[in-house]
Amino acid sequence: MTRIAVLGSTNMDLVAYVARAPQHGETVTGREFRTVPGGKGANQAIAAARSGAEVTMIGAVGNDDFGTRLRATLDHSGVDTDLLRTVEGPSGTAHIVVDDEGGNAIVVVPGANGTVTALHYDDEAAITGADALLLQLELPMDGVFAGADAARRHGVRTILTPAPVQPLPPELLEATGLLVPNEHEAAALTGIADPHEAVTALLRRVPEVVITLGAAGSMYASRFAEPVTVPAPQVRAVDTTAAGDTFVGALAVALGEGRPMEKAMAWASAAAALSVQRPGASSSMPYRSEIDAEAA
Ligand code: ADP
Repeated sequence: MTRIAVLGSTNMDLVAYVARAPQHGETVTGREFRTVPGGKGANQAIAAARSGAEVTMIGAVGNDDFGTRLRATLDHSGVDTDLLRTVEGPSGTAHIVVDDEGGNAIVVVPGANGTVTALHYDDEAAITGADALLLQLELPMDGVFAGADAARRHGVRTILTPAPVQPLPPELLEATGLLVPNEHEAAALTGIADPHEAVTALLRRVPEVVITLGAAGSMYASRFAEPVTVPAPQVRAVDTTAAGDTFVGALAVALGEGRPMEKAMAWASAAAALSVQRPGASSSMPYRSEIDAEAA
């Protein structure tokens, strides 16, 4: 079985649905409230586990009720949470206001995620034993870099999702094998709007790039081969939350199984296409048998 380590965030999303978002100093009455387990790290871990890998989640939750529920959600999805520490204080939270136009405003409070600034001994062992390490940018940069550095020293492939997008330190880029931005992140990292041109700039910093293009699919480019675009299945999307995380989780598993990049992208696209047709974040992620059926 493919082994995936994820070093990343675990957040409780606190979502308020309103007709119109409040202006500064204003109070509005919302229509509905939901708590949804999330965080890009946890979402990618669940996507990879449902795709059929043995997944270890490295990170931290707080010693509050959210932490208990976040851990239970990962456990229930078959993710190994032995290296998900419970630390004093609150869990990470994302405070999200969604309006009737589908627009949103988000405040993320890192909480326990902010304590992950270095690796424990066992974390390094989990990374060493994995086929790939998945990283995002919702942990402190020191923590992200420690993971990437451990993976590089042991020859483990790192797959970095540069979100939330921010300048990437050269030492992190040097330790990154595959960078997977969406087209907005690719544009923000390079200052170039056209993904076909942005990819050339990104390849000066990392050896391999996959840019996800929403309904238009995904594009792969490397320093050693011509770019290829893999279309996404045409589906009716109802909720694209965590589409990118579903894609990355499935892609990592397919690559870990030794599939060539284009085939792995097609399989990941099938997984993401299934997820966008259902409401929810991690709850909308498909299982391996469903992905196989969609990809067939
Ligand atoms: P993110 O979720 O990070 O913003 P994208 O919007 O690029 O990233 O979506 C990630 C992947 O999810 C895409 O490459 C594609 O495979 C799939 N996807 C997203 N939106 C759709 C859609 N409307 N129809 C089919 N697939 C989609």
